Amino acid sequence: MHNNPIIAEVDFSQNGKHWGYLRLPHSVHRSAYGWIPIPVASIKNGKGKTVLIMGGNHGDEYEGQVLVAELFRILQPNMIQGQVILLPMANFPAAQAGLRTSPIDQGNLNRSFPGKPNGQPTEIIAHYIEHELLPRVDYVLDLHSGGSSLIYNGANMLVLKPRNQAEKLKVHQLIQDFGLPSAFFVPANPLTISSAARRQGAISIVAELGGGARVDPKILSQARQGVLHFLAAQSILQGALVPKQPPSKPRLMHVAGDQHYVYARHQGVFVPSACLGSIVQAGQKAGEIHCPARPWDTPYQVTFVGGGEIICQRALAQVEVGDCLFQLAGDEQ
Ligand SMILES: [Zn+2]
Repeated sequence: MHNNPIIAEVDFSQNGKHWGYLRLPHSVHRSAYGWIPIPVASIKNGKGKTVLIMGGNHGDEYEGQVLVAELFRILQPNMIQGQVILLPMANFPAAQAGLRTSPIDQGNLNRSFPGKPNGQPTEIIAHYIEHELLPRVDYVLDLHSGGSSLIYNGANMLVLKPRNQAEKLKVHQLIQDFGLPSAFFVPANPLTISSAARRQGAISIVAELGGGARVDPKILSQARQGVLHFLAAQSILQGALVPKQPPSKPRLMHVAGDQHYVYARHQGVFVPSACLGSIVQAGQKAGEIHCPARPWDTPYQVTFVGGGEIICQRALAQVEVGDCLFQLAGDEQ
């Protein structure tokens, strides 16, 4: 159809639980006729909504990989009305290596949509997701975190700024169904899964679940409850796994442009003056960049460009010019 070379071992139109690999042909020195194995499952039971749940879009974000793999094991057709498609390691080479980007082609899957059927492996995966999977689904839950270089404050949802009132009502309802503590509205970037979903008539919610190249069990548990709440609210999940408590009401915030970011403008060791969750003002001190190789130099002062709440901060002390140190959000009007 779209000439994508990936061969699915799973027939997504069949009822029942089916799993195997998306085989991405990859001919290399150690494996001339080999393929890259992207794990996939389809759990389908009759008519209803379809949701794609992804982890490992970025390979160094482990929360989603663990959670989607857990769903892979526990979800059974008799718990489902409609369909759940699971990709625990969406960019498999990156996830296998524990890297944000693929070690094969340096591709960042979430900056590769709509992808190319005849491109590099990351572009082929993006193309397959956008053109083969997204047209089948109503919703995408793409589970991210801060990865190796960033840490988000707890469990959050990130969604595209709605384009009109009808979309706003729909998206606000979906955010409440997921029920993680905070939701951030962000401007659209055409290269991401959220824009890909929008192009294909689906709605995507990205989760940002901690980070710092580790897994926080409390955040993981919140994300698990959120996914189950979401599936139950769409009438996809039924039975014992439906959470007993209703989801809590998320706080709505927005991330705008440059005023909500702080970047390093010097190389060195960053010592922050504020922490996750703090409310800061424009012009307030954000920290200092120290240069131990030039101990006679006064550390460089870093200030916040705009005000807001710190939702994400850099996890690594060493910084170069252009590194993101803080991300802020403002309350949604
Ligand atoms: Zn990510």
